[in-house]
Amino acid sequence: MTTDYDIAIIGGGPAGSTAAAYLAKAGLSVAVFEGEMFPRPHVGESLVPATTPVLLETGAMPKVEAEGFPRKYGAAWTTGESRAVPHNGFSGLTHDFRAAEIEFSERDQPGVDRDYTFHVDRGKFDLVLLKHAEDLGAQVFQRTRVLTADFDDPERVTLRCRIGPREVPFTARMIVDASGRQTFLGRQLRVKEPDPVFNQYAIHTWFEGLDREALAVDPEQHDYIFIHFLPVEDTWVWQIPITDTVTSIGVVTQKRRFTAAGPDRERFFWDIIGTRPDLHQELKRSTRVRPFRQEGDYSYSMKEICGDRFVMIGDAARFVDPIFSSGVSVALNSARIACADIIAAAGTGDFSHSKFAGYEGKLRRGVRNWYEFISIYYRLNILFTAFVQDPRYRLDVLKLLQGDVYDDEEPRALQAMREIVTAVEEDDTHLWHPYLGTLRAPSAAPAF
Ligand SMILES: Cc1cc2nc3c(=O)[nH]c(=O)nc-3n(C[C@H](O)[C@H](O)[C@H](O)COP(=O)(O)OP(=O)(O)OC[C@H]3O[C@@H](n4cnc5c(N)ncnc54)[C@H](O)[C@@H]3O)c2cc1C
Repeated sequence: MTTDYDIAIIGGGPAGSTAAAYLAKAGLSVAVFEGEMFPRPHVGESLVPATTPVLLETGAMPKVEAEGFPRKYGAAWTTGESRAVPHNGFSGLTHDFRAAEIEFSERDQPGVDRDYTFHVDRGKFDLVLLKHAEDLGAQVFQRTRVLTADFDDPERVTLRCRIGPREVPFTARMIVDASGRQTFLGRQLRVKEPDPVFNQYAIHTWFEGLDREALAVDPEQHDYIFIHFLPVEDTWVWQIPITDTVTSIGVVTQKRRFTAAGPDRERFFWDIIGTRPDLHQELKRSTRVRPFRQEGDYSYSMKEICGDRFVMIGDAARFVDPIFSSGVSVALNSARIACADIIAAAGTGDFSHSKFAGYEGKLRRGVRNWYEFISIYYRLNILFTAFVQDPRYRLDVLKLLQGDVYDDEEPRALQAMREIVTAVEEDDTHLWHPYLGTLRAPSAAPAF
């Protein structure tokens, strides 16, 4: 049976364009259907080093380097105060709660040939990746929205697409859903489930002229990503360099807090920033150069991420919380892992569910590690700071922060963190008991 393409991809963000690059390189005929016209703004600007092996493999790295995005050598966390948190509950956990930082160069990572990754203007970055896929032979349709996917024919999938005023059908042997948080297929197949624990909300914008050195504990690290903790439960601020002078700032908090604050988004932003006077002062000295944007309801899982003639990758498969800047790396790596199975399936002509079992297993493992790490962070965030500063666990935590989560082992630090959290939860006289957060993850992470 003939089809228009071997593989049709829904969405041209980092996941879709990376998948298109791998598949086109393997000689398959590929189409990418993207609803917007690029460049378009997008949240998710700070990368982790696990993106590097993928950008090298697809050949996009020289084009990314040529954009001159700020280099990201590490990450830092600040509280803006010295918190006298007792630490004698666990021998050896000595720490300073004012600040913590890590540098990527501290740990060698397989496939990573440089000691930095990037902070990116997603408008530019996503355009580079989409054009690269096109250069490799993928056919890219922009301003083309996929409306439905029809699986009735056992030999092919038909996508009904809107191009301008017209509705046009396209056929493919299988489809890849890379539609991001719009979760095209998850909705159509009714397999999407809101996360049982996380219901975060984010409001973000860009500032010109922010003095990043003034906010850095070590001014040499001013180009790191900064996560500023606020003295408000489960609330933090990202600070991400976009250019030499433009900085992205975003507040993440629980949605109920935003809902309670009423409709004035700008006021909400400044009120919550006001709880960190040092940050408030520096931001007021700089100039906001973008409208505020908000993101909500972004934590969910899928009952299944692949089936006969389809796989979901990137945010279309799963999204938890952006605290560790994992999203783009999950997008790129899920594309990489899924494409290995898709290329093998195309070789046999069999695109049934079982052909994607390798992808399913690897993504499940990676996502489980991320989910647990994030859950522990929200449950007892002083533990995270303690572990970063403890020589016994520092490199294990760094492995997670590098996005290096797809191999077989469970990171040692996760096991140790889990045991400590349980001990603190079970002992209400424990010195750390008052620091437990209210978000409590189930003992087993939702499958995807
Ligand atoms: C508050 C917040 C902060 C974040 N911070 C970070 C960070 O610092 N670092 C990081 O790595 N990640 C971060 N992320 C996550 C990051 O934004 C995503 O993980 C990443 O963009 C996922 O890439 P993707 O390709 O899967 O989806 P997207 O980048 O969302 O791309 C999906 C594309 O599909 C298109 N599309 C959707 N539906 C259709 C349709 N029906 N037809 C045609 N096209 C369609 C869309 O237009 C879009 O271009 C953050 C997320 C949030 C919510």
